[in-house]
Amino acid sequence: MSRSDIRYWNRKAELMPREELLKGQLRDLKTTVKMALKTAFYSKRLAEAGITSPEDITSLKDLTKIPFTTKDDLRSSYPYGMLAVPKEEVIRLHASSGTTGIPTVIYHTEEDIENWTELTARSMAATGVTRADVFQNMMSYGLFTGGLGLHYGAERLGALVIPAGAGNTKRQFKLMRDFQTTVVHATPSYLLHLYSKLEEEELRVSELSLKKALAGAEPYSENIRKKIENLFGIDVYNSYGLSEMNGPGVAFECVFKSGMHVWEDAFLLEVIDPHTLKPLYDGDEGELVFTTLKRSATPLLRYRTRDLSRVFPDDCICGRVHRRIERIKGRTDDMLIINGVNIFPSQIEEVIMKMPEVGTNYQIVVEKAGALDRITVKTEVGAKIFSDDTRDLNKIKEKIKNNLRASISISPVVELHEPGMLPVSEGKAVRVIDVRPRERD
Ligand code: ADP
Ligand code: ZN
Repeated sequence: MSRSDIRYWNRKAELMPREELLKGQLRDLKTTVKMALKTAFYSKRLAEAGITSPEDITSLKDLTKIPFTTKDDLRSSYPYGMLAVPKEEVIRLHASSGTTGIPTVIYHTEEDIENWTELTARSMAATGVTRADVFQNMMSYGLFTGGLGLHYGAERLGALVIPAGAGNTKRQFKLMRDFQTTVVHATPSYLLHLYSKLEEEELRVSELSLKKALAGAEPYSENIRKKIENLFGIDVYNSYGLSEMNGPGVAFECVFKSGMHVWEDAFLLEVIDPHTLKPLYDGDEGELVFTTLKRSATPLLRYRTRDLSRVFPDDCICGRVHRRIERIKGRTDDMLIINGVNIFPSQIEEVIMKMPEVGTNYQIVVEKAGALDRITVKTEVGAKIFSDDTRDLNKIKEKIKNNLRASISISPVVELHEPGMLPVSEGKAVRVIDVRPRERD
């Protein structure tokens, strides 16, 4: 990658000086507070904090006067408690996938959709997608934001869009081959699944025209990225978003693939300590908190994402003013406590996916064995390895176990499976099955 590979979609918005960005943020924060005060939920919540007018916000520092908003707040004000405009002005609603409970609903005016489209077009352009590309969107269309979100951006960019939707691997391959798809958008787990099905479909990577994948919607490690890149011979770019902040187009990697630029003209970014709720400095790991700056139908103030990451303190070579966040480590509630050791599934993934013997899918099962927790790591290995001598299989099992013990101090039971034997989900991958009885509090 060199500087000549950099493509800007909106030079003014992407390259403005930091001071100008901050000035715009303050202006838009005031507007957002003004809109929020029109909702049943925030008028009460903000009044409790002594904020009754946008004039109560005089600098970005005043942000800390504003209370946080949580997923439960969105749930409890369902369906219309957070709507800030008359219903006639709303043209669409989306909902979260419901990974952690009842889905939450976000409304959009025409202008909200326009602003979101601008962000997704900008994001795709940052990875080098152009109007010459054939873009196959393998995310689900519907309430989930992954389908329509990038669809609009890709059309705005002028790419040829194939709204394939999720699943139906056979058809995905047919579309890819017939229309010479150059860019796909999918979850990383689905991309690995696609690869594992190539052989069944008697297809070779060389018969495809694929150059890039935009992968997101679920956490994945750098080693999974590398695996997908090497298997398909393509570039994979990380895409982060959440339905509460529109969906995809919140943060995206540029061609330098060193963290995801958060579009700070649209989202005010904070990183907080999830326990003390105090703001952290750039570089420190914590929970991401976002405030919408350009949304009128559902303004959200200091929304706690529960996603863990950190801000890179240095500038990106691409020159964009927007700060970058590190790949998401997981959600605060993903953390597993195994016999007293705290671990994130992403740490297990990082270790096993570095091993060339390990295939494209894995699953973690946690259960009680007497008083102790037992963790089983199930992974697929290549068909050839599987048909070989069981002594080799045992060696691989030992190696996985040792690597996990050495790097994250857990001693799992390891199970090896044939390719395609572990369950794959059409939406977000379900990696962890925790069947331990819940402790009552
Ligand atoms: P839900 O919260 O029900 O899963 P969403 O569809 O809104 O519904 O999903 C947003 C969440 O998905 C984010 O908060 C984050 O946890 C996860 N996510 C999205 N993109 C990424 C990514 N690139 N890396 C890691 N996690 C991601
Ligand atoms: Zn960059």
